[in-house]
Amino acid sequence: MKPSLIKRRCPAQQTMCRAILACPRQAVIYIVDELEPLGGKIVFDYEKCDECGKCAAECCGQAIEMR
Ligand code: SF4
Ligand code: SF4
Repeated sequence: MKPSLIKRRCPAQQTMCRAILACPRQAVIYIVDELEPLGGKIVFDYEKCDECGKCAAECCGQAIEMR
């Protein structure tokens, strides 16, 4: 199962994102995107992800689903 973001639950804050810190493979990434209402978004690098689920377990807003 791979992580998937439920955007409406995610404040997309690079400095407070626990999922970024939790990922042992640096596969959770914040990217600036001016088209996003919050100015950026959290994305996953599925090439690096080993589907461990740590990001979902640590996510502060239950915004990551493994599916
Ligand atoms: S911890 Fe979860 S809800 Fe918080 S910014 Fe990261 S992905 Fe979004
Ligand atoms: S499932 Fe594991 S490896 Fe994949 S993004 Fe989440 S914490 Fe990183």
